[in-house]
Amino acid sequence: MTANTYDIAVVGGGIHGTGVAQAASAAGYRVLLIEQTALASGTSGRSSKLVHGGLRYLESGQLRLVYESLHERSRLLALAPDLVRLTPFYIPIYRDTARRPWTVGLGLSLYAMLGGFTRGTRFTMVSRRVWGDLDGLRTDGLQAVWRYQDAQTDDVALTRAVARSAIQLGAELACPAEFLSARPTDDGYRLIIRNAGADKEIFCRVIVNAAGPWVDSVAQRVHPAVPRLAMELVQGTHAIFPGQLTRGVYYVEAPQDRRAVFVMPWHEGTLVGTTETSYTGDPAQVRPLPEEFTYLQETVRYYFPRRSLDIIDGFSGLRVLPRGDTRLFRRPRGTLFLQEPGAGRYVAIYGGKLTGYRSAGAQVMKLLRSVLPPAMVIADPANIPLQPD
Ligand SMILES: Cc1cc2nc3c(=O)[nH]c(=O)nc-3n(C[C@H](O)[C@H](O)[C@H](O)COP(=O)(O)OP(=O)(O)OC[C@H]3O[C@@H](n4cnc5c(N)ncnc54)[C@H](O)[C@@H]3O)c2cc1C
Repeated sequence: MTANTYDIAVVGGGIHGTGVAQAASAAGYRVLLIEQTALASGTSGRSSKLVHGGLRYLESGQLRLVYESLHERSRLLALAPDLVRLTPFYIPIYRDTARRPWTVGLGLSLYAMLGGFTRGTRFTMVSRRVWGDLDGLRTDGLQAVWRYQDAQTDDVALTRAVARSAIQLGAELACPAEFLSARPTDDGYRLIIRNAGADKEIFCRVIVNAAGPWVDSVAQRVHPAVPRLAMELVQGTHAIFPGQLTRGVYYVEAPQDRRAVFVMPWHEGTLVGTTETSYTGDPAQVRPLPEEFTYLQETVRYYFPRRSLDIIDGFSGLRVLPRGDTRLFRRPRGTLFLQEPGAGRYVAIYGGKLTGYRSAGAQVMKLLRSVLPPAMVIADPANIPLQPD
């Protein structure tokens, strides 16, 4: 192989692109990871920073997603103890909360069962005596508080750690470098990428489109045309408020529409999110909207009446959801893969979770098995420890 020839070109240096780069290089393939701005500069740096099963997805019947995510959570707790940590989560139930204490208890039992009743799946009802110690949580009308466990991470640090692992396994990183086009060759594609103002030619056998909210614009640059999923972008905004939480994460219902909102400790402040707002613009231009900040401030005021409502920072990320008629909340949150029929030299990743990146990488490799030559496996990503910078 010449210097500009690879088995796999991965477009996008978010958690999915770095996860695929890690899986592919561990499987013994020559990999180029192409990122236009910086690692984790897209959605993977603007998430809720949770490595979780997704308790709320039980309500929409996404049991498989919850099971797989809890399994991945366990794996990441073992592989990356300095990056992924179990944190207590509190669910307060008031007289006007839509979910009743027993419904939440039932959900937590199912969550624990899907998680294999491991240490991280224990849950309990918090005694009324200690309600006053819960970071100023409103106790007026409070009927019950459940405590369970999920994990928090630093999404940028996690993505960077996965990228570093891929590079240690032999992957190359082109960053900042923009993928401009791909045209077919006898055994793959000829790519043009723009690196430091200069266009460069790359050859590869397969392309993995891991461009997150840019997935469609990257697909349009591949010739001949590749399949595209009818999709929708949904903006999720977080706001950071001053003051720390000492007990853990609070999982509340927004008073306006009963959507789930997390109130989380984050460095010196408190991270609150998210919103769900349809988005149609350029993914690079997504910004918090004043009405989203108001929604989050009202949620904080409702549950933590003594806390400051000043917003010291905020950020927005974009979810990629399949287009549909059901409410955004009800749409499937799992990862979708779209492969070019026939030769199958192109695979695109839609949606997904930070938590599930390793299994997404493994699934992409499974889809590409028939079009890649055999290679000497170097390692199994399920056993590679991850360290922060
Ligand atoms: C508000 C919000 C909160 C979330 N919270 C959680 C959570 O707590 N836990 C969880 O598990 N999941 C969470 N998710 C889901 C998770 O964050 C995303 O599914 C995941 O980060 C998507 O990663 P990605 O790699 O697909 O996309 P991205 O991280 O967006 O990466 C795509 C990359 O492609 C690059 N790119 C685009 N076009 C090109 C090009 N032409 N050339 C080169 N590079 C290009 C971009 O610069 C970008 O860096 C959340 C999502 C949102 C929106």
